Amino acid sequence: MLFVSTRGPELVATLSEAIRQGIAPDGGLYVPQRFPEFRPSDFDGAHTLADIAERLLAPFFAGDQLARKLTEIVNDAFNFPAPVKQLETPGDRLSVLELFHGPTAAFKDFGARFLAACLERQPHHADRKITILVATSGDTGGAVAAAFHKRPWAQVVVLFPKGLVSPRQQRQLTCWGDNVHALAVRGTFDDCQRLVKEAFSDAELNQRLELSSANSINIGRLLPQTVYYAASSLAIWRQEGQAPGFVVPSGNLGNVVACLWARTMGLPIGPIELAHNANLTVPHYLVTGEWRPQASVATLASAMDVGNPSNMERLQNLHPDWRELASQLKAHTVTDDQIRARVAADFRLFGESWCPHTATAAQVYANLSGELRHVYHWVLVATAHPAKFNEIVEPLIGETVPVPPALAELLRMPSHYGEIASDLDALKSSLHDAPPR
Ligand SMILES: *Cc1c(COP(=O)(O)O)cnc(C)c1O
Repeated sequence: MLFVSTRGPELVATLSEAIRQGIAPDGGLYVPQRFPEFRPSDFDGAHTLADIAERLLAPFFAGDQLARKLTEIVNDAFNFPAPVKQLETPGDRLSVLELFHGPTAAFKDFGARFLAACLERQPHHADRKITILVATSGDTGGAVAAAFHKRPWAQVVVLFPKGLVSPRQQRQLTCWGDNVHALAVRGTFDDCQRLVKEAFSDAELNQRLELSSANSINIGRLLPQTVYYAASSLAIWRQEGQAPGFVVPSGNLGNVVACLWARTMGLPIGPIELAHNANLTVPHYLVTGEWRPQASVATLASAMDVGNPSNMERLQNLHPDWRELASQLKAHTVTDDQIRARVAADFRLFGESWCPHTATAAQVYANLSGELRHVYHWVLVATAHPAKFNEIVEPLIGETVPVPPALAELLRMPSHYGEIASDLDALKSSLHDAPPR
């Protein structure tokens, strides 16, 4: 299998090259040259995430130097569960796909661990580390830091928007030390993402450092995300013989690309609904066909505060005609007031507490027509543990949210980080201050 850039199919790369580079040399994002096709029965006998991953991802690894390491990689990466939990809803079928059981309690752990497992098994230069440059809206930074911490062949530089991540998210991305450097950028997530892209196209930096990206622009983060859609849709298909619908809290659109790719490969996935917060770029596009990136707006679901989502290029690559794309996915908008009300309501209804991102999905589900709710078994994608957003969730439910042990451990560590203005020169000089060791 080869991978091509969204900006020109003549740029091809092997899987290892695409993962190593992060972004294609023309600034585009890597996508598979074609998708393998599966039937649900191809997964008979495969029940764990690792088993399903091995079958689903084998075609993407075919011909690459990493192919013979695939078993090792999937066992290393998928070492925590993604349970599908059914909720009590009279007459309707509703489940939650819990993606927050990894080391940093958000779905970003799947992609980050898989990417690290792939890079770990590539040849490394003894005297030149890989510099993983990563922009975070809150959760990616912690997941990538956890996955790459103390790997001798890497240093990690995490850019987060100053004051715009939750207090616990901030602790989680500034607690590492060693080969992980966190930088608070005076700007928004979009500024952080722009800085990463500028760094990648800066000749001097690229000569000095071997840069790679751990954002969802890296194909090595998206491929493993298709696995939990495969596993959860197959589990429901096997029981009910029907493809479930998914509601996906969306920001930079990586998670939704993974869901759509899984469906494209033949996994039993029905309708895909995108839950957006007050950042309207994607809902606007899917209604009007106009792609108008906006400055991002701060909301309670801060990890989705993205005004110029990178992965739209991958959606457009699959469906260049916006009307066709709009027939494949629907986008919905949820306000902060609705998020608050939904967290409180569903705690009363189900005894479940949602993080603000998961609450956008729960709200979109609640707003679907009664008929649509009834026809499909719906799966709400729970992207983070509510304990990461305790300052928002606890006052709404009137209770403390128990902190998962792995997260509690990180919150006890001391925090340290630098601060920079949101321009490339500032980033470059702080990269000089933190040379690869
Ligand atoms: C990153 C993140 C999202 C948005 O996911 P995308 O792949 O960027 O669309 C949603 N919820 C949480 C908790 C996140 O960390």
